Amino acid sequence: MKALQSEVERRGSRIFELVDKNPEALFSKAGLYQRLMALSMRDEQFKVQLFRFVDVLPSLRGSSEIIEHLNEYFSDNGFGPLVNAGVRLARIVPWVSGPILRWNVSGMARQFIAGKNPDDVMATLRKRRAQKIGFTVDLLGEAVVSEADADEYAARYLDLLEKLAQETKNWTDPLGKNSELFPVVNLSVKLSALYSQMNPADPADAIAHLAPKLRPLLRRARELGAFINFDMESYAHKNTTLELFKTILTEDEFKDWPHVGIVMQAYLRDSEADLRDLIEWGRKRDTRFAVRLVKGAYWDYETTKSLQNGWDCPVYFQKPQSDANFETLTRLLLENESIVTAAFGSHNVRSIAHAQAFADQLGLDRGRFEFQLLYGMAGPIKRALVEMGYRVREYCPVGELLPGMAYLVRRLLENTSNEGFLRAKFAENVSAKELLRDPRELIKLNGTSPMKSQTTITTQNQHPQGSGPVDTAPDDVYRNSPLVNFVYKDSQDKMRSALREVRQRLGEKYPLVIGGEKVWTDELTPSVNPSAPDEIVGYGSEAGIPEAERAVKAAREAFGKWSRTSVEERARLLERAADILERRRYELSAVEVFEVGKPWNEADADIREAIDFCRFYAEQMRRLGRPKLTQRVPGEESYHHYWARGVAFVIAPWNFPIAILGGMASAGVVTGNTVIMKPSEQSIVCGTMLMQVFEEAGVPPGVLNFLSGHGSVIGAHLVDHKDVDLIAFTGSREVGLRIWESAGITRPGQRELKRVICEMGGKNAIIVDSDADIGEAIGYSIYSAFGYQGQKCSALSRLILLEENYDRVMERLIPAAASLRVGNPEEPGIMVGPVIDEAAYRRILDYIEVGKSEATLAYQAKDLPPKGYFIPPTIFTGVKPNMRMAREEIFGPVLSVLKVRDLDEALEVANGTDYALTAGFLSRSPDNIERVKAQLQAGNVYINRTCTGAIVGRHPFGGFKMSGSGTKAGGEDYLLNFLVPRVVTENTTRHGFAPEQTPEYRDEFLWPKSH
Ligand SMILES: Cc1cc2nc3c(=O)[nH]c(=O)nc-3n(C[C@H](O)[C@H](O)[C@H](O)COP(=O)(O)OP(=O)(O)OC[C@H]3O[C@@H](n4cnc5c(N)ncnc54)[C@H](O)[C@@H]3O)c2cc1C
Repeated sequence: MKALQSEVERRGSRIFELVDKNPEALFSKAGLYQRLMALSMRDEQFKVQLFRFVDVLPSLRGSSEIIEHLNEYFSDNGFGPLVNAGVRLARIVPWVSGPILRWNVSGMARQFIAGKNPDDVMATLRKRRAQKIGFTVDLLGEAVVSEADADEYAARYLDLLEKLAQETKNWTDPLGKNSELFPVVNLSVKLSALYSQMNPADPADAIAHLAPKLRPLLRRARELGAFINFDMESYAHKNTTLELFKTILTEDEFKDWPHVGIVMQAYLRDSEADLRDLIEWGRKRDTRFAVRLVKGAYWDYETTKSLQNGWDCPVYFQKPQSDANFETLTRLLLENESIVTAAFGSHNVRSIAHAQAFADQLGLDRGRFEFQLLYGMAGPIKRALVEMGYRVREYCPVGELLPGMAYLVRRLLENTSNEGFLRAKFAENVSAKELLRDPRELIKLNGTSPMKSQTTITTQNQHPQGSGPVDTAPDDVYRNSPLVNFVYKDSQDKMRSALREVRQRLGEKYPLVIGGEKVWTDELTPSVNPSAPDEIVGYGSEAGIPEAERAVKAAREAFGKWSRTSVEERARLLERAADILERRRYELSAVEVFEVGKPWNEADADIREAIDFCRFYAEQMRRLGRPKLTQRVPGEESYHHYWARGVAFVIAPWNFPIAILGGMASAGVVTGNTVIMKPSEQSIVCGTMLMQVFEEAGVPPGVLNFLSGHGSVIGAHLVDHKDVDLIAFTGSREVGLRIWESAGITRPGQRELKRVICEMGGKNAIIVDSDADIGEAIGYSIYSAFGYQGQKCSALSRLILLEENYDRVMERLIPAAASLRVGNPEEPGIMVGPVIDEAAYRRILDYIEVGKSEATLAYQAKDLPPKGYFIPPTIFTGVKPNMRMAREEIFGPVLSVLKVRDLDEALEVANGTDYALTAGFLSRSPDNIERVKAQLQAGNVYINRTCTGAIVGRHPFGGFKMSGSGTKAGGEDYLLNFLVPRVVTENTTRHGFAPEQTPEYRDEFLWPKSH
């Protein structure tokens, strides 16, 4: 190892010597661009603003729009005289500065983009050829949101291949040896560009769609003697990419073709296992293939995404760990050179020198592997490598400026990264000795890398200091349960096996639970699978008035003891329930798939929410349960604390059948109330499962009672019951208003004024601003409108588009809707399943007829599954604010598009309904964002994301106006609705003598120990 390190240092020093012979700044473009980058590296806030401005600029049309954005991003931010002067100047002469700014940013992009189109790029490739540098060409493009986009991409790849082959017909290998391993034409392909519906849970579907698009490209490449490389993107697509690579290249047509390669990302913790597996596959296939080893371009994305979802992070946290792994994989590749041709994709001289030194140690000819570097970066290193006699290939992206922005921003981030090699060497002049240190040594030194690593050592895949393994925040903030990550085969297998097991028990009968006893009734209510209505998921015993009466009596009797059971004991009950939900997670998700037609990830999110409700409310109750001293006054003590209200009646909907039912019931139970819970008639089995969970958790008899039955019978009876003190309802506006009204009547013998927690529907809107990222706008809108068939109360039903970008959005919205996977959600990766039942099916179809009579049917899906309550995703345009389509809640996959003049009108339209539940705004204008945040009328306002998917603790959920009584499920103040506040005041003065210290409130009488 020592000898290797000396050799690495020797080679690295040689590269540096050659680099220093022709010194070049980090950014080859001088002037303004240099200065902006230098400022970015000094000032993180400026960097954020600059990169955001760069991101939005190409989509701005006029000079005035450009100047407005410039002002919004940079004025008054204290970025120093250069920036201030620039902004002032731009304001004075907008018609001049707009185009100049655009030109400058285009210049930035041109530094990293080798050409606008295939013709354009040839000039670059010829220049490189003269410098003995080869090429691989990659096509930049906008996010692929539809199959139309994907088909266009596939056609462009083919075109590019033809063009490159044609233009380079007479080119020979620059090294003149081993050329059979390295065809001149080399094309890099991104799979996500070829299929718009790639879903990590369903690699088989992705492969089935991608393979037919790839085969013609591979076939043609083979005919033309070209090379195809599969690029690697985010971790979500990693397994699919590997699987597809192996599958297609084992087909008869391609199994003896060596000119294919794939990327391995060394920042991934599982990359070594993947590479070993790939090599083994290659040996069995018995034909050479290639691997481009990189560290990975999505580090920020992967860490953020895993933090947000509570997933184990797939990437290393310490830069030296990625560097060290790069070297481990380097050795693995070179040791297996007999089957795999290595390409090292790095600008890091240490990583490069290590590959050189190890290859030498193995006695490998330097013409048998290559170094690959990005266009526009590290020019002197490329030249040094050529001079040393190594094979060098440049990665040349081709495309227009607008689609190139994501690529540009990735490169800017890489170039200015605190941890990056290029910044350390070319901007900060870190010494060669430091830069060539063994990364393993740096890991031992607790991660103090020469590139100013700020992370501390973390052994497993835990997030670095200041955060934890799951959704985290500062320590006193609730940590959400992680979502299941269906990227893993293990998760997919567990879900499949849960579906099989649950299928075995379809049709079982379930009892009521009253006072801890199972109660069977003569009447059974069937619960039907909406994807296959001839399939009964289960039968629920149907409660009538006698059972409702029994349940109230049991709850009333249990109340005295339960309300005086210690907060700790009640909190622990919820935590035990959460643990059981966690244990039964896949099974319960599978029940939801069958009973309410939820796609896999939606079902899992529901169980996760139920778990979160239990744990979050347990935490909250511990906080609220401590009597609190009010204002301190000498000689007087006042303690504020809470009592339970009494018997709570919980009425839940079917669309979040375990989370909402569980959320309301657990809030009732933990606050010391006793609860009668009634699931929706359409989700009795889910409700039964939840009851089982609480029974196993040890809920005492009578504290939680389970009544399934008709809302019109037992629901109405219990709402009016004199012994019911609180009603927690989530459901339709019609039923909610009836409950609200009826609960207002005081009946003989009633002790309390009834408290009603009422969460109802919405007519939710998303406004798309003129500068929004269209690809993202489409993705967010489509998911918000059609995810779970539009049956979330938060779902998007009104898309409000400004005149200015109406055509641009519609052009991509319709094909995106047309690409959605509609089907039975037992299949992984289905996004649109059936609606809940026949009544909903008919009602939504009626609304579609209303839409046809009021507006223009712009899109309706075809080819639906033959049975089941499937409604085609449908889009109406020409919808006006006064139409029924714009005012009434439909609760299905039907989207109305409204065109407005400007943002003022957009806000007026968005706010102009009876509802105020969720709303969204997609924009890149800081001022417009702030304005909309302040003015959009909704309980949950979402900026630059979907308008669905609230997470407990992070997004307390609930609306106002006709959407609800203003409560926030999953929020800090939610439990207060279940409690009566009390204040006890004691005069502690005795004959003028007042104690100096105020004691803790003695709560043993509130919650006696004997309980
Ligand atoms: C020819 C070529 C093709 C490429 N193709 C792909 C591709 O298909 N897919 C892809 O993902 N990338 C690809 N890349 C991009 C590549 O991943 C980055 O350019 C590369 O990671 C930069 O590494 P470096 O060795 O040049 O620089 P260095 O500065 O040594 O390394 C920077 C890298 O270290 C990693 N890193 C940064 N901070 C941390 C941290 N705190 N903890 C752990 N790791 C950290 C990141 O991967 C970061 O990019 C390609 C690059 C080249 C040159």
